[in-house]
Amino acid sequence: MIVKISVVSPVYNECEVLPYLFEALPRALSKLSDHYEIILVNDGSSDGSDQIIRQRAELDSRIKLVSFSRNFGQQAAITAGLDCVTGDIVVVMDCDMQDPPEMLAPMLDKIHEGYDVVSCKRTGRDGESLFKRWSSTAFYQVMRFGIDKRIEPEVGDFRMYTRRAADALRGFREQHRFMRGLVAWLGLKEAILLFHRPARAAGQTKYPLSKLIKLAWTAIASSSPLPLKASSYLGAAMLAGSFIAFGCCLIGLVASWTTTTALAWIGFLLGLSGIQMSAIGLLGDYVGRVFEESKQRPLYVVSEVCNIDTSPQQSRAMWLDTTDGSGQVRIEPRIYGPISLPSPIRKVG
Ligand code: UDP
Ligand code: MG
Repeated sequence: MIVKISVVSPVYNECEVLPYLFEALPRALSKLSDHYEIILVNDGSSDGSDQIIRQRAELDSRIKLVSFSRNFGQQAAITAGLDCVTGDIVVVMDCDMQDPPEMLAPMLDKIHEGYDVVSCKRTGRDGESLFKRWSSTAFYQVMRFGIDKRIEPEVGDFRMYTRRAADALRGFREQHRFMRGLVAWLGLKEAILLFHRPARAAGQTKYPLSKLIKLAWTAIASSSPLPLKASSYLGAAMLAGSFIAFGCCLIGLVASWTTTTALAWIGFLLGLSGIQMSAIGLLGDYVGRVFEESKQRPLYVVSEVCNIDTSPQQSRAMWLDTTDGSGQVRIEPRIYGPISLPSPIRKVG
């Protein structure tokens, strides 16, 4: 049977690594099938990555460009790529060569054995700081033991899917998305291949600490109401604590009430109100997510494409009219002026 392989890769300011990708990925794919497509989703890059992809796409129709109007995030870029796939087998991988194209052959073997999803698990990571490795391990522990134990540690977005698995995955249209959580939730037949993750071929990570924390929190809050439950348990513990504190206070009054104990109680009460404020903030975060979801805004806005024939009819996806060929994305607004205006006409007499 002839299979067509679709590769989806998000791209954000990756002009330095794209030449490596264009060298290695088509070579690996052509060993597997004559029919393939590489869908590169430009997530609002400002370094000309979209122009590099377009140049390449104009030479080879198997390379396809989907360009966002701004940065919507890696998870949205993967979603847009999945919305466009036309192949029988779908691969999601980073474009920085940390997901080695050589893995595609053993992954395809597993698909032929009857698995729906083949995931790659990192046994080690090159070129990443100790902090990043440590925080990643801690994140997976929290996710597994607090949120969803089906989430496999050290498995990222590098996966191969059968078409039916990819279709199922793109059926999720929620705003705050964490692909790994969605794959685990689906519960499809999954094989896991081990690999040592190399360093990126060039450039810097696009995940500074602030973005990593945001992604980790999205992963937790979009998968589970556990933090809310935890805050109500904390509230119950605080109530019990307050009874004890009240008892101690009475004893303190009867015995010797000193300034130090008064200060200690003030500190204790401030601590309690701090916990209460954080619990309200947590609640606010969840309410905010419900509010954003209720608006039903698109997950992404596509402003330019190349070699994509028809825009897919998926819900919560906005495709601007790209047929006039003027689809150059402007990330920053361009300011013109100052424009000289005619002097105002004065009423005479
Ligand atoms: N990426 C993206 N949008 C973003 C950040 C990253 O599309 O806002 C892409 C990036 O180009 C790369 C992949 O997501 O293909 C993973 O990013 P990166 O390699 O920086 O993450 P790391 O491997 O350091 O965790
Ligand atoms: Mg990377």
